[in-house]
Amino acid sequence: MRFDIITLFPELFAPFLQAGVTRRAYSSGQVAVQLHNPRDFADGNYRRVDDRPFGGGPGMVMMAPPLERTLQYIRALRDDGAPLVFFSPQGHVWNHALAQAWAVDARGAILLCGRYEGVDQRFIDAYVDVQVSVGDFVLSGGEIPAMAVLDSVTRLMPGVLSDEASHIQDSFNPALDGLLDCPHYTRPEEWNGRAVPEVLLSGHHEHIARWRREQSLLATAAQRPDLLHNSRAQGLLSAQDECVLREAGYNGGLN
Ligand code: SAH
Repeated sequence: MRFDIITLFPELFAPFLQAGVTRRAYSSGQVAVQLHNPRDFADGNYRRVDDRPFGGGPGMVMMAPPLERTLQYIRALRDDGAPLVFFSPQGHVWNHALAQAWAVDARGAILLCGRYEGVDQRFIDAYVDVQVSVGDFVLSGGEIPAMAVLDSVTRLMPGVLSDEASHIQDSFNPALDGLLDCPHYTRPEEWNGRAVPEVLLSGHHEHIARWRREQSLLATAAQRPDLLHNSRAQGLLSAQDECVLREAGYNGGLN
């Protein structure tokens, strides 16, 4: 899988690509990341990549010509029809299902990180295949969204996490029926007067599994009733699950 990233700040990616459980995926090329700076494709001594907006107003806008030349350079290196993704607060909000779909599509993508007020709309209209947002807030640039997308896709790829089972137990995964993850505890058994839930020390796998399911249900009901509603609508909650929710005072996922 290959990602070509168009960014005015390629140096931001170095520490991200060199740390943590995903490092080997990047260094081995299982996920190949190439960084491209539009400044290298800009004209003149000043290598200008941005200019003032037509119509006035604050801020600067990324110019189309250097971006077009960067894209043409990348397309000449890879002709696999990889989509051009533009990060924008106006895009579709990224989620687990999209990360999962990308993890099984071996192509990867070309990622365009905006800066300033954004990118000349004509470049977006001419070349961008899809716009992706990481949430309803505004960042200073598309680099953090690019890292968020890369990381969420890479950790789902086969062999990247040392314990293959670990991501299956994460929030939003089909194995959890779309619910949130359960709480986790480790040593010491008692910390500042707080004990670890006894069932986790019992060694009784069935009881532990049931407790974890209950905790997932209760966390989802409390924090993300919208997810609980979806799981219920898809018929993923059992009679026993509904019983747990009723006993805790959640009825119909509406509270
Ligand atoms: N004027 C734009 C925001 C520009 S922020 C607007 O209001 O829609 C500068 C750049 O940061 C954007 O071009 C985009 O690439 C990136 N960015 C900011 N917030 C983002 C978000 N929530 N998701 C994805 N990209 C974002």
